[in-house]
Amino acid sequence: MSYVRYKNNDLFVENVSVKKIVSKFNTPFYLYSEGGVIQNYKSFLNNFKKSRPLICFSVKANSNIQILKILKKMGSGADVVSGGELLKAIKSGIKPNKIVFSGVGKTEEEIRLAIKKNILLINVESENEAILINKVAGKLKKKTSIGIRLNPDINAPTHKKISTGKAEDKFGLSKTSLISFCLNSKKLRNLRLNAISVHIGSQILSENPFKKTLRVLEEIIKKTKINFKFVDLGGGFGITYKKSDRKINLKNYSNLVEKFRRKYNCNIIFEPGRAIVGDTAILVTKVQYLKKGSNKTFAILNAGMNDFMRIALYDAVHNIIPVVKNNKKNKGPLEFVGPICETTCKFIKYNKYQKLNQSDYVAISDVGAYGASLSSNYNTKPLIAEIIINKTKVRVIRKKQDIKSLLNQ
Ligand SMILES: *Cc1c(COP(=O)(O)O)cnc(C)c1O
Repeated sequence: MSYVRYKNNDLFVENVSVKKIVSKFNTPFYLYSEGGVIQNYKSFLNNFKKSRPLICFSVKANSNIQILKILKKMGSGADVVSGGELLKAIKSGIKPNKIVFSGVGKTEEEIRLAIKKNILLINVESENEAILINKVAGKLKKKTSIGIRLNPDINAPTHKKISTGKAEDKFGLSKTSLISFCLNSKKLRNLRLNAISVHIGSQILSENPFKKTLRVLEEIIKKTKINFKFVDLGGGFGITYKKSDRKINLKNYSNLVEKFRRKYNCNIIFEPGRAIVGDTAILVTKVQYLKKGSNKTFAILNAGMNDFMRIALYDAVHNIIPVVKNNKKNKGPLEFVGPICETTCKFIKYNKYQKLNQSDYVAISDVGAYGASLSSNYNTKPLIAEIIINKTKVRVIRKKQDIKSLLNQ
């Protein structure tokens, strides 16, 4: 996290100290580094530059429109999973011919929207979805470009709740169903089968499952003899949340992708989400109370699982770091928890931590992906603010939700 670092004892995002920002804005809030987003995008693209891929940022990782605008400026497209995300991507300025639409449960209304907007690909996840798209396309008299999503039955080592590429997962078509779909796809006269797509899961830290997936794709192309215009290799590239996380090395995979691209003369698409935004934000929060437990102290924060869900949802590990370091020792173990009335509203426990006082500020790290986008109004709490820093410039990109808007529903 080079854009989030300490200078002496003060935590900085780019050139602004977090201490200064908490003096101006009420906590909790998300705090992003614009430079971080830009650098991650560039470095992802650079990994695969020989293949000149289209990068379709996975909007569900972070759907703040200002983040989308930054990525749009870099040339990014979008991978969307709902009509709402599709409209937001277009509103951010991303052209429909750079948008792909995934998801197992697209409604007729969402399909109609996607067809009318002429997006690059609707990535189909079942035969029955293809039949519905064909029908809607017929009514609208528009030949519609689709991709077909493969479930390669590959076990990518990641948390079971974010695996998507095993036979038991709901996503995509099995190899045999997909091959028979391809061989019969001409019957769906209003569709153009332009792509094969795959996305095997998220937070994957080993290159091997990606390489295996390429081999399954080769097998299918050979069997169907279809010259797909696009091969959409999905996202899922992991980041290092904890010290023991291995850093994924994409060099070798990228060489294989390039070989594949040349051999089958196709255009490559990637759909990274986490890799672009995951490490670009912190969630700044205040220690509301310290409370003595039987064998640990609870640090009760003013941010909860409603603001940041990943820990409760996926057992994710996110470090919590002080906004100002003090080099003194806390007595005994310390557990950071939130205010929500759920036992799972807890963040992380440390056996050793620096001396902590009530009203101190701390930051949950690496919250840029699946952070704000997964937050909710649980316990009738308003959504918190999002702030972004570009060098010394501080910009609010989402205001804290007005509590009044929650009172009438
Ligand atoms: C969520 C998702 C992605 C992004 O996954 P990351 O792990 O954030 O890179 C890409 N493609 C599809 C279809 C998705 O559902």
